[in-house]
Amino acid sequence: MRISEVRGYALSSPIDPVQSRPFHGGRRRLLKRDVVLVTVETADGEIGFASAGASSSAMREYFEGDSQASFADLVEGEVADALEGETIEEIADAHALIDATNLPERVRHEAASAIDVALYDLRGKRVGAPIYELLCAEYGTEPDDDLPMYASGGMYMRPEGYADQARIVDELGFFGYKYRPGIGPDEDVRTIDLLAETVEETEVMLDAHTWWKLDGDVYDAATRAEIVEHAGERDAFWVEEPAAPDDYDGYVDLAGRGVPLAGGESESSPAGLISLAETGAVSFLQGDVRHHRGYTGCAEAIDYCLGTDVEFVPHNFGTWLGLIANAHLVAAAPEVRLLEYPIFEDDPALDHPEDPGMYPFELAFDVIEETIDVEDGTLSVPDGPGLGVTVDLDVIDEYPPTEGAWTEFIYDE
Ligand SMILES: [Mg+2]
Repeated sequence: MRISEVRGYALSSPIDPVQSRPFHGGRRRLLKRDVVLVTVETADGEIGFASAGASSSAMREYFEGDSQASFADLVEGEVADALEGETIEEIADAHALIDATNLPERVRHEAASAIDVALYDLRGKRVGAPIYELLCAEYGTEPDDDLPMYASGGMYMRPEGYADQARIVDELGFFGYKYRPGIGPDEDVRTIDLLAETVEETEVMLDAHTWWKLDGDVYDAATRAEIVEHAGERDAFWVEEPAAPDDYDGYVDLAGRGVPLAGGESESSPAGLISLAETGAVSFLQGDVRHHRGYTGCAEAIDYCLGTDVEFVPHNFGTWLGLIANAHLVAAAPEVRLLEYPIFEDDPALDHPEDPGMYPFELAFDVIEETIDVEDGTLSVPDGPGLGVTVDLDVIDEYPPTEGAWTEFIYDE
């Protein structure tokens, strides 16, 4: 297919009023969520879509001054220059063209991720098949398009607040409930106990990235080890990112303490995912089609996991467009079965008198015209051509980008 135009739209979904969440030693402000919508148009007028630039726990927007708007500019600059006018026979050809640019390595991986997903969307539309069917043909698998999901919520609340959310998630039928500890070691331990007493069927996961974002005094290595061991004693399903992304020794130290570890979302490439898996410390490897070079890149990590004790479970924390993109991967890839479902306020797909959402993120739902199909915590993957959803281009006007980081960490003096 001949590519005529590549666009990147930076969008911001305000959190109004701004939220302030206390953690141990400070507070975290939540101002908005940012998304980059990428479109790839072919000479015959078809458009492929992807969401990109979504944040990982590294939160480079805050800690390293990254900007979603500047990523959108790069998509319309160097990336568009490399692709527009080119005829792409194989999606790998587009990866090669992006890799030949002078963009910094991590930006190239982010760009390749978005372009890969958009090209799969176009290929599916062209042949009239959902992406998961294209992927099944590549993997030699049969599709499984009813996907169990775990709900990802809980950030910096009282232990009772986490327990309330977990109960709602349990009643909604999700496979698991994931939350973000970081309210102080004693209260983190009390949360683990309270959750174990609150839910029976639903698995509990801890996403511990706050620990390594805080100054090392509170969550030092011994304290982290104690909390991880306690999570193991209370049968947590996994502890995620208990050490900084590049601290492989920290991961290794915490492995084998009675609870599986998860990680990978902050790795910048498929090779990084494999390096983390090679430590032997993680049981769950969290690649993401929005960060790890799309379906093409994630396949490298999935291939690595085949026949090992490491299970690939996509990281997914953004809009429904990103969710659906990762869902096609889970529906097709061998030995991949579980999907992360972020819960935001007023989620139209969830039916419960109480709202378990973390914060408002209206763009997450508005970016596609459809309401996704979630029943008992299980997603039915759309079976229309490509991604199988209709992107609502009105969001480009309705969610203009705003300056600055989406979240801020304010530390006590
Ligand atoms: Mg995480």
